[in-house]
Amino acid sequence: MAVTGEPSFRESVDLMFNRAVALMDLSPGLEQKIRVCNSTYTVRFGVRLRGKIETFTGYRSVHSEHMEPVKGGIRYAMSVNQDEVEALAALMTYKCALVETPFGGSKGGLCIDPRQWDEHELEQITRRFAYELIKRDLINPAQNVPAPDMGTGEREMAWMADQYARMNTTDINAKACVTGKPPHAGGIQGRVEATGRGVQYALREFFRYPEDKAAAGLGGGIDGKRVIVQGLGNVGYHAAKFLSEEDGAKIVAIIEHDGALTDDKGLNVEDVRQWIVKHGSIKGYAGAAFVEDGAAVLEHDCDILIPAAMEGVIHKGNAARIKAPLIIEAANGPITFGADELLRKKGCVIIPDMYANAGGVTVSYFEWVKNLSHIRFGRMQRRAEEARSRLIVEELERLSSDRGLGWELAPDFKERFLTGSDELALVRSGLDDTMRAAYGAMREVWHGRNDVGDLRVAAYIVAIDRVAKTYRSKGL
Ligand code: GLU
Repeated sequence: MAVTGEPSFRESVDLMFNRAVALMDLSPGLEQKIRVCNSTYTVRFGVRLRGKIETFTGYRSVHSEHMEPVKGGIRYAMSVNQDEVEALAALMTYKCALVETPFGGSKGGLCIDPRQWDEHELEQITRRFAYELIKRDLINPAQNVPAPDMGTGEREMAWMADQYARMNTTDINAKACVTGKPPHAGGIQGRVEATGRGVQYALREFFRYPEDKAAAGLGGGIDGKRVIVQGLGNVGYHAAKFLSEEDGAKIVAIIEHDGALTDDKGLNVEDVRQWIVKHGSIKGYAGAAFVEDGAAVLEHDCDILIPAAMEGVIHKGNAARIKAPLIIEAANGPITFGADELLRKKGCVIIPDMYANAGGVTVSYFEWVKNLSHIRFGRMQRRAEEARSRLIVEELERLSSDRGLGWELAPDFKERFLTGSDELALVRSGLDDTMRAAYGAMREVWHGRNDVGDLRVAAYIVAIDRVAKTYRSKGL
């Protein structure tokens, strides 16, 4: 955890914001309006469980309503507190602006250890929390749309959506009140993997630019790069899985809360994940070295470090010993303001959270649009697309045989060309396009201005500028 004497998470986000606005031409009033968190609602509610009343504390923070609905996940963890929720809500504002999802920023949290409660109890707690938020329009398709975060997933989102529908029986857009729902309950294909997939697309984009790789002292592609990932939860697991299975990265270490596994030849991510699912821990996993002090593995030699667990894990106490030349922040806020400064001075390139993990909210946006349009993506055009492709293939085959040319199309070409895009393909295409466009906007500022030396400040500048434009167009 962060060493004492460092700013809190929210202060850290504010300091990063300040670095960026110092390079911008905003009026002090507008600057302050964008920085502050608009509101934080704290709720304490009781649920009768195991024969007695348990009281829980939850938050929903709205950072910026320059666009509505506001968007951001709900986290279940014992460490949840107002400072954290407000920091995360601010990051959502900038993240949404950077990847052009038309939302303001929000975040929620419940102080709870989800592992202490069984499924039925969690449903009761979640429905009660949702009830409190819904009756204040802090869950509402037009105003505030939560999503999963640490400790929550499809199951919790389905409960929240159902709770909203029960309380708003005539709202035809009820399903759009939360995203990250299971596909059978109004969700979208590819949402669960979206944040990890976004990390992969972000790295692919980074590696397309020789100058950017050179800034980190790296060459070549992702293939063969030694990667350390911290946290094999939903984000870290998918990112590590896709990077190793599809792009040839070598996952040389996986850090979890109870230790780390290391293997210079590369770990099998799926195997490790299955082990964790079965045993609740990485301990006992054969075929890799176990290191008790997981945090120390952040400092091991590698090409790419992916902190995908939680905030503040790279702080002033360990930043100087981090060897990775490239860090991609899959978690929100894993590097403190002080550590960020130290790492930058060392020449480490950091792909910042607000961009790196924006895949989740991007696909949430697609899900929200799907819910509002009441139709699955691809349903109208998929077969028409296939029919047109078939026309071309049949015409080529006819020409080949009529003219005796003897052309033969490769069977996999035919199969691939003749397959119209289904929802998953469209979601991936939309996500890839989003990640490329946002990277382009960031790197234009990074390389285009001589007073900008890193991607984080570039990301803030792009995001703040867009939020400022929206405020100005509203006459503020
Ligand atoms: N909790 C995720 C994040 O931090 C997703 C938010 C969303 O989809 O609204 O970006």
